[in-house]
Amino acid sequence: MTTGFAIEKLEKQETAKHDGVMKALVFRGPHQIAVEEVPIPRPGYGEAVIRVTLTTICGTDVHILKGEYPVKSGLVIGHEAVGVIHELGPGVSGYEVGDRVLVGAITPCGQCTSCLNGSLSQCGGQPIGGWKFGNTINGAQAEYLLVPFAQANMAKVPFALDNEQVILLADIASTGFSAAESADLKLGDTVAVFAQGPIGLCATAGAKLKGASLIIVTESNPIRKQVALSMGADIVLDPTAVDVVAEIKRITDGRGVDVAIEALGTQNTFESALRVLRPGGTLSSLGVYAGKLSMPVDAIAAGLGDYRIVTTLCPGGKERMRRLMELILHKRVDLTPLITHRYSLAEIVEAYELFSQQQDGVLKVAIEP
Ligand SMILES: [Zn+2]
Ligand SMILES: [Zn+2]
Repeated sequence: MTTGFAIEKLEKQETAKHDGVMKALVFRGPHQIAVEEVPIPRPGYGEAVIRVTLTTICGTDVHILKGEYPVKSGLVIGHEAVGVIHELGPGVSGYEVGDRVLVGAITPCGQCTSCLNGSLSQCGGQPIGGWKFGNTINGAQAEYLLVPFAQANMAKVPFALDNEQVILLADIASTGFSAAESADLKLGDTVAVFAQGPIGLCATAGAKLKGASLIIVTESNPIRKQVALSMGADIVLDPTAVDVVAEIKRITDGRGVDVAIEALGTQNTFESALRVLRPGGTLSSLGVYAGKLSMPVDAIAAGLGDYRIVTTLCPGGKERMRRLMELILHKRVDLTPLITHRYSLAEIVEAYELFSQQQDGVLKVAIEP
């Protein structure tokens, strides 16, 4: 009797575990992350829950891990997801359970003043307000993900595209491409891209898509140099071997470039990007800076050089995702060469190790829950 009761109780627990608990990567404090069991989220009004089929690790997650970007303890981190709709909350129409969707890293509400003014990434009126996953709400490195403002943020994935083809659109590709868009890059513009990490590589691809005539990039890592050439770079300069500012000036016959893209987030690359611009050129900045960023007056012609400096946070929302998927669908760009390593969610801590240390030629890792 006792044994039978115990078994029955155990079975109930097993069922409850199956229904209500999932595995997720939880941040407990700087350098403290682990896969834990947490409740599967349930959608409220206007929300949806997706079963994550592919996610990845972003450089920003590494900043979180190192304690350089503070988030609260107990948060599930990660902000890129492709998945299948598991449950729809009330008030979400045009979708069905089972639909495969891509959700951007930035999830704007579509209704606030910032959104209605076109600044979707700054949703809510606070800087970076559109970035919610793995920042202010639980994120995507989990088996299930609650999508806020689901109607505005779930983009159905075309049948012809697989998960690896679209996952990088959620963040790095949307961010990288946006550098050329924010710069209002014109046909025939010459472009310099500073650093060819995953975002810089996507910035190179974006400059090519927007019609740059010549793309000069800076990178010292031999693997990244090669990938840069395949993503659209014409010339790769090694900043550890040459004076990249002088070299870019020389290549452009002293004119300087029309658009300089900063994709690293350091004083040195920011300043170099400014120094290679032609008068009236645009510095398009993607980097995340720490401390203080200063600007030497000679690099901006004492404030009289008509320079334009623009910054961009990853554009999100379902229409952005739809447009980017069209680029993949019609073979304008292929991001799959950037996925160099694959892990299961159970192995994600190991994946963080590799990714944060940039071991084994890693560019991006795909994580399959
Ligand atoms: Zn990111
Ligand atoms: Zn909003």
